[in-house]
Amino acid sequence: MDTKDINLSAELKKYFGFSKFKGQQEQIITELLDGKDIFVLMPTGGGKSLCYQLPALISEGTAIVVSPLIALMKNQVDAVNGLSSDEGVAHVLNSSLNKTQTKQVMDDITAGKTKLLYVAPESLIKEEYVDFLKNVKISFVAIDEAHCISEWGHDFRPEYRNLKGIIDKIADVPVIALTATATPKVQDDIQKTLGMNNALVYKESFNRANLFYEIRPKVNVDKEIVRFINQHKGKSGIVYCLSRRKVEEFAQLLQVNGVNALPYHAGLDQKTRVLHQDKFLMEEADVIVATIAFGMGIDKPDVRFVIHYDIPKSLESYYQETGRAGRDGGEGYCLAFYDPKDIEKLEKFLAQKPVSEREIGLQLLNEVVGYAETSMSRRQYLLYYFGEIFDPVKGEGALMCDNSQNPPTLKDATKDLKKVLEMIKVLGEKFKTKDLISLITGKESAVTKSYKLEQTEYFGFGKSESDNYWKSIIRQATVQDYLKKDIETYGVLKISEKGQDVINGKSKNIFQIAEDREYNLAQSK
Ligand code: ADP
Repeated sequence: MDTKDINLSAELKKYFGFSKFKGQQEQIITELLDGKDIFVLMPTGGGKSLCYQLPALISEGTAIVVSPLIALMKNQVDAVNGLSSDEGVAHVLNSSLNKTQTKQVMDDITAGKTKLLYVAPESLIKEEYVDFLKNVKISFVAIDEAHCISEWGHDFRPEYRNLKGIIDKIADVPVIALTATATPKVQDDIQKTLGMNNALVYKESFNRANLFYEIRPKVNVDKEIVRFINQHKGKSGIVYCLSRRKVEEFAQLLQVNGVNALPYHAGLDQKTRVLHQDKFLMEEADVIVATIAFGMGIDKPDVRFVIHYDIPKSLESYYQETGRAGRDGGEGYCLAFYDPKDIEKLEKFLAQKPVSEREIGLQLLNEVVGYAETSMSRRQYLLYYFGEIFDPVKGEGALMCDNSQNPPTLKDATKDLKKVLEMIKVLGEKFKTKDLISLITGKESAVTKSYKLEQTEYFGFGKSESDNYWKSIIRQATVQDYLKKDIETYGVLKISEKGQDVINGKSKNIFQIAEDREYNLAQSK
């Protein structure tokens, strides 16, 4: 399509009533209409939907929108149909339709009425649909929640993995993939699986400057939460627990303590769930105590706190769940309780899973531990996880976390950093943190033996300090961009440019670290 002739701002106003594009929406839409493949990484609430809805509405033919949840599809379809004066420009094709309804949808597409067709990946796989879609005019394909493609995402769907082959069968049209999960690993996986290595990538910052992050040791957790909620009386908040039983128990405990709280989990019947959700949205209940089943698609702008009774299984989940606070830009307090024993429980649970799932699960947990135990800016740590380098002094929201407000005493570890970097370089940048720690502290492992690391000068050089000390050096060196974790092997440490400067003696940076918090946690119990 020749985009020069289109006044996108006028179309935005006409369909959505907005007078300005948000962020990079306009460039994204222009490039998509120009026939380019596009990859959009934007936090929740960034305005991703409009990036495919608007071009779909003004393009010839039907845009296929792949979306993982039937419930979400329905909301979106209703929303789009509310936009246009033409009746029914958006439809769904999924297992919830009967034969007559399916035929109606197909007829609408053939007649050129349907601008957006929402499909679940498992429906798209069906041969009859592929054959049908092959023979109608398709404008482009949008893949929403594209992180579902990756096992490293928080919501892996095996059906998403075959999408590329199916799309190729249907039409040779541009593809736009969108997600709010932006770890470099997931990003890489999505692009490879969809054959979108040459796509234009639009990434917006994942920094939520109005959120305050705090981690507390999980001691007297019930009391602590009750006290916190009483200090925030009348404000909306969510308390996440890992188990349904805990949700029930804790909701009751809050009620007994005079908090207007309700439980929410997938074990409750549909009616109760909807009722509790609505009461929360309508402000008849202040607090919802929930499992992770609560939240997808919930858009309550004035949630003032999100509490994690149990630490989540991955930093993505943590980010998504805490992200439900302060959507309106106002206060949003994110408080999580951490106990290394909870991690052990989750690890045991993973031990029963198939190998690949287990490995991934453990790596994700490792990042959670790193985050919970770090003494550096939480925002810096979290954003690093999403591939962003954040300035903990001048960055937006720099002071908004426990560690930044109450900085731990720091120790100059520049020499130790240099030694570690040199060692990694000399040994050929082949090892992961765990093996490097064995090497530094002089403990034999399968890896140290097979590479004969016992015979190097590095074996045991750091014996006088604890494992945790060296772990923090490596962790913080990674987060501060002296080391890079290799994406392919997920975890092998490589020297960055900044790290190379330290090795060459060109760097004037002072590298400081604090005593590891894990130690303090163990003592506080
Ligand atoms: P995402 O899918 O990235 O989570 P949404 O597409 O749901 O985000 O958009 C988040 C909110 O921003 C919605 O309420 C939407 O109507 C609004 N929005 C999107 N684009 C604009 C815009 N250009 N101007 C004003 N509001 C917008």
